[in-house]
Amino acid sequence: MHQPLTLPPGRDIRLADFDPDFHEDIDRADAEAETKRHSDALDELAYRLYAESRRAVVVVLQGIDTSGKDGTIRMLAGGISPQCLDVRSFKAPSALELAHDFLWRIHAAVPAHGRIGIFNRSHYEDVIVVRVRQLVSRSVWEPRYDQINAFEKLLGDGGLTFVKCFLHISKREQRERLEERLRDPRKQWKLGPDDLADRTRWDDFQEAYDDALTKCNTHHAPWHIVPADKKWYRNLVVARILRQTLAGLDPRFPAFDSSLLTKLD
Ligand code: ADP
Repeated sequence: MHQPLTLPPGRDIRLADFDPDFHEDIDRADAEAETKRHSDALDELAYRLYAESRRAVVVVLQGIDTSGKDGTIRMLAGGISPQCLDVRSFKAPSALELAHDFLWRIHAAVPAHGRIGIFNRSHYEDVIVVRVRQLVSRSVWEPRYDQINAFEKLLGDGGLTFVKCFLHISKREQRERLEERLRDPRKQWKLGPDDLADRTRWDDFQEAYDDALTKCNTHHAPWHIVPADKKWYRNLVVARILRQTLAGLDPRFPAFDSSLLTKLD
């Protein structure tokens, strides 16, 4: 059984065509064992990227509330040395951020060469939540798809690789996760009135995501649709994608100056 994670740029992406519960017939134990292997490999690859210090990677995590962004970050951060990692969360913009263009705060958070950034939400909120909640007019959000593509191209040309992951959960799974949050005193703090209000606009969010995923699925920064109803499968897929990306970059240790061998007294 197979489900594509990516579609060629130019093809319409409709989330309704992707099964959020897809898990390629792998079971949980095998998935967790494979995730652990990717995690171990990621630690070494991240170390090399850090030593090489010429390129950077950013994992962009988007998804509806409760889609598992925090859990994915916990998984990735568990396998990579913190000194190689920058985790950033983007909430509703501050007054200062709103006084700049929407990409200002994002650009400032882009990881330096050698590092892996993880964005918990991102510039995509500026074509998703602002559109659904009608925080700005269409004439403001509509040109942003092109602006985002140009921005990601600029950063790509400068040595940044984007790993854009949409964590795809079903409406039914979101209900279960919200219910758990409502009942669990350790999770209630995560819930605000906006989360429940946003659920009533489920279809609008899906439509806004369809457009963002379609219009910003480029050769230089493709989207990955990660089936995320099963947390362990989501973790496996994201770990795999990041490992493949880093392995493809093949970061190298800088050349060693062998004259140093003679200089230790
Ligand atoms: P999270 O849900 O990511 O764990 P919060 O519960 O604090 O964290 O939610 C952050 C909120 O900020 C989300 O509702 C998100 O849609 C909102 N947000 C993020 N970026 C923007 C933006 N550019 N404009 C408006 N709202 C935003």
